Amino acid sequence: MSSSPPSEPGPLLAYLDGQTWDYDAYEQEIKARKRQDAIQDGELILPAHERGRLVTAHVPVIYGCNHVCTFCIIPYRRGRERSRRLGEIVAEVRSLVEQGVKEVTLLGQIVDRYGYDVPDGPKLPDLLRTVHEVEGLERIRFLTSHPNYMTDELLRTVADLPKVMEHIEVPVQAGNDEVLRRMRRGYTADDYRRLVERIRETIPNVSVVTDIIVGFPGETEAQFMDTYNLLAELKLDKAHVACFSPRPHTVAARWEDDVPWPEKERRRRMIDDLQREIMAEINRRYVDQTVEVLVEDLHKGKWRGRTRTNKLVFFEDPRDRRGELVPVRITWAGPYSMQGVPADVPPDVALRVDETLPVVAG
Ligand code: SF4
Repeated sequence: MSSSPPSEPGPLLAYLDGQTWDYDAYEQEIKARKRQDAIQDGELILPAHERGRLVTAHVPVIYGCNHVCTFCIIPYRRGRERSRRLGEIVAEVRSLVEQGVKEVTLLGQIVDRYGYDVPDGPKLPDLLRTVHEVEGLERIRFLTSHPNYMTDELLRTVADLPKVMEHIEVPVQAGNDEVLRRMRRGYTADDYRRLVERIRETIPNVSVVTDIIVGFPGETEAQFMDTYNLLAELKLDKAHVACFSPRPHTVAARWEDDVPWPEKERRRRMIDDLQREIMAEINRRYVDQTVEVLVEDLHKGKWRGRTRTNKLVFFEDPRDRRGELVPVRITWAGPYSMQGVPADVPPDVALRVDETLPVVAG
């Protein structure tokens, strides 16, 4: 893995030091403080309509970002990275679980950098191990990762802790080294290849999700094809694709936005089409397998939930399954969702299951 920093923080820090505080960051701090007040003594009160009905929840663990990817506005809006105290996070998770939450997703712009701003403070593996101890919590996810911070210790922790889902979101953004350099991402396409290999070796049956930007300033057809070919080779579980659009304050906004919009759209569609085929191929492997689904809610008469690998699954069942971990035998798989039948149906429960039902888009 490249040892160079993902991006040069100097200009950002200088920019931030010269600023009277940014309203976004200020609002965020106020919100965070209110939230902190709410969770004192482990009390975080969800709105009444969510209590006992909310199955999954997001819990921010680190705010801001110290990097300066040249396309990204986040550091300018959210400020430098600040990790929340571990005890405060655990208290919040405990409180959410007491109100019915079964799965938490720990959030950060670079979540793997949790604790890097606190000398000798706990890091993400420590946080995962501590949150794992919360009784009643069934599942833990975390996002978003950065390729340069996915340590072996972190990957082993994910593999070792049964409540931590085998699902990693780690953006590559581009598959061409020159584009990556101009994005100031701090790694090469080969570094990313090796990372995906390491993730797959360490965490059995893992799903890996990425982000892609197409039409970055100066991106040639050949450079775009490097990204396309990287995705075709790695066959990741999902790729969120965005067309480049300049953001105020960012370095890339000072460069000529020279890929015409129709061309950006064409590149985006090409990646989407490729990825759809890959996802259909991956999901087909689930057919006839029984997977554990955490049921989130009822959608058009069907229970909707997610596998450990974050795949969307629909099934019918007259019983109230919200918040339950249900073993589901997959009977149909499309690129975006799957359908199945619960594998735990006692003989006296009548189920109307039509295995040819059209898929409900997720
Ligand atoms: S893309 Fe991610 S790592 Fe880069 S500056 Fe934005 S938030 Fe930070």
